[in-house]
Amino acid sequence: MNSCPFCQRDLEEKMAVCPSCKAIKGYLKVSDFILGKDLLIFFGLIVPCMIIFFAISARNLFGLYLSIIMILPILFAILRLILGKKWMK
Ligand SMILES: [Zn+2]
Repeated sequence: MNSCPFCQRDLEEKMAVCPSCKAIKGYLKVSDFILGKDLLIFFGLIVPCMIIFFAISARNLFGLYLSIIMILPILFAILRLILGKKWMK
């Protein structure tokens, strides 16, 4: 049994939303939207990989810089997936 970090209500392990304060268990918060695992993989891994693929195929300096920058969201997404879900509001 764990409890909500915002309202201290006891929660079951499988619960993804706190019934009292509506806190959400997820991987990443983007403005008011909380990403689940599939969206984190999509925006954190698939989209940057596609950008890197197209940037590399451009074969210029800008493409090289863009590829290097796009490694950051991939590393961040992998780190978030390793650390697991956390409660967010
Ligand atoms: Zn709560």
